[in-house]
Amino acid sequence: MKVILAQPRGFCAGVVRAVEIVERALEKYGAPIYVRHEIVHNGYVVESLEAKGARFVESLSEVPSGALTIFSAHGVARSVEDEAEDLGLPVIDATCPLVAKVHSQGMRYAAEGRTIVLIGHAGHPEVEGTMGRIPGPVHLVQSAADVAGLDLPAETPLAYVTQTTLSVDDTKTVIAALKHRFSDIVGPETKDICYATQNRQTAVRQLSKLVDIILVVGANNSSNSNRLREIGAEASVPSYLIADKGDLDLDMVRGAKTIGLTAGASAPEVLVEEVIGALRSLGPLELTTLPGVEEDIEFRLPSELIEA
Ligand code: SF4
Repeated sequence: MKVILAQPRGFCAGVVRAVEIVERALEKYGAPIYVRHEIVHNGYVVESLEAKGARFVESLSEVPSGALTIFSAHGVARSVEDEAEDLGLPVIDATCPLVAKVHSQGMRYAAEGRTIVLIGHAGHPEVEGTMGRIPGPVHLVQSAADVAGLDLPAETPLAYVTQTTLSVDDTKTVIAALKHRFSDIVGPETKDICYATQNRQTAVRQLSKLVDIILVVGANNSSNSNRLREIGAEASVPSYLIADKGDLDLDMVRGAKTIGLTAGASAPEVLVEEVIGALRSLGPLELTTLPGVEEDIEFRLPSELIEA
């Protein structure tokens, strides 16, 4: 059996930074530390941090008075920030700088008097955070069909921003539909879309040309991991999202001579190594890594944690 690893795969710079923020905050301030929402969408990461003293909550009302609170990498609405201030909670913000950039783009366009369209998935915490940051109504669209359903005159001055876990490729049909319907429309450069999302998706597309099946290591609620699985399936390669080696089913790999393996941006490499170990237990295995982009992007930590 051959296993080909996608390059790049797994942790992006925003996830590395968010996890490091919780770890350094635990070192500097001691347990417990409260984190609003899963710091990143991965059960293994969340459990590892819980074991070190992090407490994950969905609402600030669950945080004891005065306890240090961290906002997750997905970002939060302004109302959540205001609530933390009203409750007097000390906060460290682990919002990924690329998500924060989308927030500022949206706020800037709104200040210019434009109506904002957000391209993203309803219910995702990043989308809720972005919608809650931009003053005025924000119209959420997920597809070109949603664009057709927008109840806005064609001459409305419009601006679009996008959820970071959608790639340039994911958004281009929706952006084309917006440009077709609205004449006065602006949006960020496509190069502003998250580098990690694009790189992981490009790698899966390459992988899909070489393999019989694709395994994506990632959590069920991880938007970017689900998208990687979908890209494999769109290329007609049977593709499976597995949280870890425990989800690996013999039926998935039966008859496959070459297996492609990747991981979502919130899945740690240790889980990929465990899946390789489980595949090795099935028989001799030849392991190679696809040539791909070597990422060297690092995001700065909040200043209060740099010395921790
Ligand atoms: S996927 Fe992109 S936007 Fe999301 S946390 Fe990673 S670097 Fe930031």
